[in-house]
Amino acid sequence: MKKLIAGNWKMNTDLSQGSELISSITDKIQANKELQDNCDFLVCPPFVYLSSIKGVASGAQDCSSHKSGAYTGEISASMIKDCGGSYVILGHSERRSYHGESSAVVSDKAKAAHEAGLIAIICVGESENQRDQGQEQTVVGGQLLGSIPDTATAQNTVIAYEPVWAIGTGKTASPKDVADMHSFIRSKLNGLIEGSEKVRILYGGSMKPENAGELLAIPNVDGGLIGGASLNADAFIEIGLAAWAN
Ligand code: PEP
Repeated sequence: MKKLIAGNWKMNTDLSQGSELISSITDKIQANKELQDNCDFLVCPPFVYLSSIKGVASGAQDCSSHKSGAYTGEISASMIKDCGGSYVILGHSERRSYHGESSAVVSDKAKAAHEAGLIAIICVGESENQRDQGQEQTVVGGQLLGSIPDTATAQNTVIAYEPVWAIGTGKTASPKDVADMHSFIRSKLNGLIEGSEKVRILYGGSMKPENAGELLAIPNVDGGLIGGASLNADAFIEIGLAAWAN
């Protein structure tokens, strides 16, 4: 499976920084045919800059579960599509914790994304406390069951495993923990999504050039969801290079 290297810019960059970042990323990808053959790249900027992204696939960091109407401040999945987006990140731990998004809400949003023709990247992951208590598979299994709608297919859905304690902290899960969780997720998807063996499962949590080779070589790790390091064109591209160097 071709690895998906996805950048989540979160609430960072202004228009000029974002434009510079995307042009530097696309220049580096266009200059390297082998990289293009081995990785798919995706960037998810703040909504307002989505239309400015050209040269790689783009996506949003959230969408509404509603199609249109009196929902002040919301952005629909079809608006994302209209602005050139083809993906949307849903159920990121920052949305689940700061905006109280439950798995049921994530599932409704993923359904809206699918109906608009977007690929939903559904994020799951346990907290440090839950892992300390040995609850990580129960938590992630429950999130998968609750967050994946019946519209999901191997083509329109990507899962991102992001242990909450590894996001933006510099800590990463050990290769064995990642291998165990990704194989658990793969087995759980069987029964939830037809053709589950073809669903991409990304790892996210302090991925950077120094650890990407090891993480991306783990079975069932089909790419990375990258926060901090995606804001640096060199680091983002080096993660892509590490995906097939091993
Ligand atoms: C993320 O927020 O999805 C993420 C993985 O962030 P970071 O790479 O900075 O840990």
